[in-house]
Amino acid sequence: MALIDDLRRIASGRVAQDEPMAGYTTLGVGGPADYFVEVMSEDELSSLMKYVTENGLEWMIIGDGANLLISDKGIRGIVIRLGEEFSKIEVDGMRITAGSSARISKVADVAAKNDLSGLEGVGTVPGSVGGAIVMNAGTHRGYIDEVTHSVRVVTYTGEKRVLSKAECGFTYRNSRFQWDRTMIITYAVFNMRRGDGAAIQEHLDSVRKHRAETQPQGKSAGCFFKNPTGLSAGKLIEGAGCKGWREGGAVVSGIHGNFIMNADNATATDLYMLAERVRDQVREVHGIELEYEVRLIGEW
Ligand SMILES: Cc1cc2nc3c(=O)[nH]c(=O)nc-3n(C[C@H](O)[C@H](O)[C@H](O)COP(=O)(O)OP(=O)(O)OC[C@H]3O[C@@H](n4cnc5c(N)ncnc54)[C@H](O)[C@@H]3O)c2cc1C
Repeated sequence: MALIDDLRRIASGRVAQDEPMAGYTTLGVGGPADYFVEVMSEDELSSLMKYVTENGLEWMIIGDGANLLISDKGIRGIVIRLGEEFSKIEVDGMRITAGSSARISKVADVAAKNDLSGLEGVGTVPGSVGGAIVMNAGTHRGYIDEVTHSVRVVTYTGEKRVLSKAECGFTYRNSRFQWDRTMIITYAVFNMRRGDGAAIQEHLDSVRKHRAETQPQGKSAGCFFKNPTGLSAGKLIEGAGCKGWREGGAVVSGIHGNFIMNADNATATDLYMLAERVRDQVREVHGIELEYEVRLIGEW
């Protein structure tokens, strides 16, 4: 039986071959994935993981694609996405359990409605719960690790496990899941603090408004590079004279130097070439090596 038929037997969500990835990323670029599979339950995911491992297939999981630069050549193997079933948000006292495909901003809104504080920092950031855990996403107002109690995962052998916060290995904009690609996060449990719901919602709304007014609008993945300790990558890029630089349809934002935008039908190669030029210039001018925050996926 063909691989695609096996995948359709295992997963009840969208299953496709040669699926263009551009529509799954906020940058709006990325060539085709050999196979794309959307799973609707932990049991389906478990069966899929067993199948891919037994057959020695390559795989990767995507969330909302807000931090991905996928190559124009696409992705070899199977791209997995968690379907609607994984977007549930449950509140139990001071604890929130959220599925990996729930928007982290939605979880923060639900927290506010229930007078629960702790997700204000990350609740203004685009992306899913799973992606936020992997990236330890957040802002200077707080990162997701601060309230994470545990996560549920399905491993590459199909085993379901619970990992404590300590086992998640959080550091600045990083977690264990960036180097340990043996598991997929299905749910996260957050330990919240009691707060004033109206004040929390007002805070979330005002930060979102501020971001919409001050950050570049359009197709981006947010900040391209991590801030070197004690420094701002955006300021370094601006100081190196890169604002407004172009490569094909890609441009370094004139508003925020760390935003490399798909301004005009850019290819992934345009964006990557421009990012590499920026890194070279920052190295030459400041003697500092910028490290990518966006995840580079596929061949370059
Ligand atoms: C306009 C804009 C502003 C931004 N501002 C910020 C900001 O202020 N702070 C900040 O931290 N980030 C920011 N970002 C980046 C982005 O929002 C975060 O990195 C976000 O957490 C990515 O979530 P995602 O669901 O899109 O993950 P994706 O980009 O889809 O994936 C990110 C990584 O997580 C992995 N992954 C995704 N889901 C799972 C899962 N269920 N299990 C295991 N691995 C998984 C993927 O394989 C990939 O390696 C911004 C992005 C944009 C577009």
